[in-house]
Amino acid sequence: MYRIRFHGRGGQGMKTASRILSNAFFLGGYEVQDAPRYGAERRGAPIFAYVRAAKQPINERGIINRPDLVIVADDSLVAIPAAGVLQGIGPQTVLMINSHEAARTWEERLNVPGQVLILPVTEEVEDRAELPFLGTTCAGAAARLIGIIPLEHLQQAIRDELAHLGTEIVEKNLQQAAEAYELAAEYAGKVIEGTEISAQDYAKPEWIDMPFEVASISAPTIHTGLTSELAATGTWRTMRPVIDYQLCNRCWWVCSEFCPDGAITVDDEGYPQIDLDQCKGCMICVAQCPPHAIEAVAESVAQLAEATEATEATEAVGDKS
Ligand code: SF4
Ligand code: SF4
Repeated sequence: MYRIRFHGRGGQGMKTASRILSNAFFLGGYEVQDAPRYGAERRGAPIFAYVRAAKQPINERGIINRPDLVIVADDSLVAIPAAGVLQGIGPQTVLMINSHEAARTWEERLNVPGQVLILPVTEEVEDRAELPFLGTTCAGAAARLIGIIPLEHLQQAIRDELAHLGTEIVEKNLQQAAEAYELAAEYAGKVIEGTEISAQDYAKPEWIDMPFEVASISAPTIHTGLTSELAATGTWRTMRPVIDYQLCNRCWWVCSEFCPDGAITVDDEGYPQIDLDQCKGCMICVAQCPPHAIEAVAESVAQLAEATEATEATEAVGDKS
């Protein structure tokens, strides 16, 4: 049985990728299962979707713990334990990451037993975060890695899955998937079908009797309201709210009140300050600010601007000394 997991962020098309891939398997005579698993239901939050495919009836259920192939659409998810990207990776697993960094760098960084590959893209692509139709791109690469899915089945699956979006969108997705399929040719057949998992040798665990305690003693006490401070929801962000203090009229409460994460505080002079470790990029503050003083900026653009500013500051210090 083939077991495949697609990891990405809400809005990157991983559920679509799983639907397309399972449909392509189905067209080749396979029994299939596909399902998404969402966390917080919003764009940018980590999600994964999985596919099982086999020539026999599939009796396994639930999330895939021993994947043969893991495709990661956004490399920033790898470092987030809650995203579960590395869960169950074994020596037989192929891990394909959409990243500007080299496979070797990831191998050294992760030290996982499986093989690490980078999602191949054409040389014209400068920013992988801007890749169009990422879901179909990942599905196309996955189909080629698996090696037994012909391009016609992949294309038919895309037509079936995306027909409701109209001919133009379908054609663009077909083009993108065919390109990914072609670019991944050198890895064709790298994914090996996993063995059946049998419960025959299952041994019952030894039970431990836990003494009963009333909830007032045994349950945790939670003092913090809103999102836990320890969850770095700032890593979910694909868009960043940026305040133009020239336009902000220090109404002092609208943005800070509406922020669902309590990520905006107001300083002593009445200016709002955003805690970027906690801001998850929902853009509610952008929509609510009466004088439109908060702008939505792509996170990649904001980070680049920060890095440029830091470099210029360092160079300025160097020039003075
Ligand atoms: S985008 Fe604005 S409202 Fe949303 S979490 Fe960030 S600061 Fe709060
Ligand atoms: S809602 Fe707009 S004007 Fe009011 S404090 Fe926030 S940024 Fe300033």
